[in-house]
Amino acid sequence: MTAYIYKCLEENCKDKKDYRFRGLCRSCTEYIGGEPVVPIVRVKHNVNGTLFQAYNSTSTEGRAITRKEKQAHMQAENTDEKDASSTKE
Ligand SMILES: [Zn+2]
Repeated sequence: MTAYIYKCLEENCKDKKDYRFRGLCRSCTEYIGGEPVVPIVRVKHNVNGTLFQAYNSTSTEGRAITRKEKQAHMQAENTDEKDASSTKE
């Protein structure tokens, strides 16, 4: 199975960990009263560290992620989490 990692691309980021799920970089995102005012989102990478470029803005596929893709993505994330914590099916 192909897996992906998520990394923050900010130059001065202190968080060099590879994450198995998308999210805001806790180190770079600025919070005020618990709300992210300057959200810095981690960027999807292939496991070999190269940038993942499926959803290119110049793509002819259109502007939005389809529901099916979103679903597959969520399933992949769930699977990733299981894989990370346990090897059983
Ligand atoms: Zn960061």
